[in-house]
Amino acid sequence: DLSPVRRALISVSDKTGLEELARALAARGVELVSTGGTARALRAAGLEVTDVAEITGFPEMLDGRVKTLHPMVHGGLLALRDNPEHVAACEAHGIRPIDLLVVNLYPFEATVAAGADYEDCIENIDIGGPAMIRAAAKNHAHVAVVVDVEDYGALLAELDAHDGATSLAFRQRLALTAYARTAAYDATVSGWLAAALGEEAPRRRAFAGRLAQKLRYGENPHQRAAFYVDGSNRPGVATATQHQGKELSYNNINDTDAAFELVAEFDPAEGPACVIVKHANPCGVARGETALDAYRAAYDCDRVSAFGGIVALNTTLDGDTARAITEIFTEVVIAPEADEEARAVFAAKKNLRLLTTGGRLPDPGEPALSFRQVSGGFLVQDKDVGQLATHALKVVTKRAPSEREMADLLFAWTVAKHVKSNAIVYAKNRATVGIGAGQMSRVDSTRIAARKAQDMAEALGLAEPPTRGSVVASDAFFPFADGLLAAAEAGATAVIQPGGAMRDEEVIAAADEAGLAMVFTGMRHFRH
Ligand code: 5GP
Repeated sequence: DLSPVRRALISVSDKTGLEELARALAARGVELVSTGGTARALRAAGLEVTDVAEITGFPEMLDGRVKTLHPMVHGGLLALRDNPEHVAACEAHGIRPIDLLVVNLYPFEATVAAGADYEDCIENIDIGGPAMIRAAAKNHAHVAVVVDVEDYGALLAELDAHDGATSLAFRQRLALTAYARTAAYDATVSGWLAAALGEEAPRRRAFAGRLAQKLRYGENPHQRAAFYVDGSNRPGVATATQHQGKELSYNNINDTDAAFELVAEFDPAEGPACVIVKHANPCGVARGETALDAYRAAYDCDRVSAFGGIVALNTTLDGDTARAITEIFTEVVIAPEADEEARAVFAAKKNLRLLTTGGRLPDPGEPALSFRQVSGGFLVQDKDVGQLATHALKVVTKRAPSEREMADLLFAWTVAKHVKSNAIVYAKNRATVGIGAGQMSRVDSTRIAARKAQDMAEALGLAEPPTRGSVVASDAFFPFADGLLAAAEAGATAVIQPGGAMRDEEVIAAADEAGLAMVFTGMRHFRH
């Protein structure tokens, strides 16, 4: 099952490593055929190369839209070498076999990410490249196809191992990669069109990502895992620069994303905010006059859980904040920027991972898709970018929230959107003081959040639990009055929730009786 490589077609947009590869192939006696730009680059490097145009007898035309789409090329890629009829047909038409195809595609993803206009994006949809890749991959019984610069080294090693030939197993692996590449490419084009047309995006398109990182393991050590990026260039863990620390793990990536997406909800123009995440849930969120204030207030929500957490800031990480963070063990810190002093502080903590995003924060209102895998399929939905319009808020109790309560209610509501359901968030002075996450009953989340606040009060030696005089947010309606009454008992004075329960009347009456102010949002934020 060895297939000798005598003739290679190279057509690459990304010319990284091209000269080295071509030189190594030529040195092994491989004849080189190339398209316009690639051939020029090879000649400039002093290599001998045949133009595709010479083989097809056609010039490259229509702005390069048609270069390699020709039987002389596709026959050479698709012919079965051990089929007498194929061999005869090729001989009759002067088609010579192509044993190796090296293609990387027009940079469609990069063009979109750079914000190019519609026509420019269209022109960057590669047609001949994917056609050749698919042809060569189909014929992997004989042909090797390389679509990634990263695989050049492996190809040369394979040729050395087999005296200038490739093994079937190697070609099969290359074919698998090749089809993954063309599928991801077309999925990106389809997604771009869906976004450009603004229609039915989640319902009629294909999805694919590009392998960015092979992970050591998944959520647990016995699970294999990898990180794929979607090419959207959204600021966040997928596009951040890592300055120090070990490679991110699967759980790190998941938690860092949760932390950064939440902190980005807080407009830096209105001051610093800090989020600490554990197991994909925030265990402390706060705004502050300074990043340090915000971090300390977030930490004080739940000091026990914050150990080994992920910290996200919506503003530049400074030296003081960095020092405070290093007082306990922290896995990852992500911020738009980190100043020199902060970096110097972290440099002494070898295991701490620091990520920055070139000054960028994700836009929490930007539409995107979210995925969940179920057995036999995927669930795809619009990302929850629901923003609360303040005018849509409805005061349903006799007492309306005070201005201070209202500010805290909106803060708590924003946090609740990012807490796994059933989510209950107590907040005071724009800092969380108790978070109840992921419980199967709302009343349990309410009680757990209050109990955690009580624990913190004891640990910090406070005279009373910080839930006294707090407000509370619930990600979905209180189905019964019990959850609301538990919040009142913990000392909450105002409530924000979607409303819409069968027993709303009963819940409102209980709120009035307890002297609570309550607003309905009319919007739910389940998150599972
Ligand atoms: P070059 O820089 O060599 O002129 O062009 C290389 C690029 O052209 C590669 O990315 C390859 O995928 C692409 N390509 C090769 N053949 C065709 C074709 O027939 N049509 C189009 N649109 N692109 C092609």
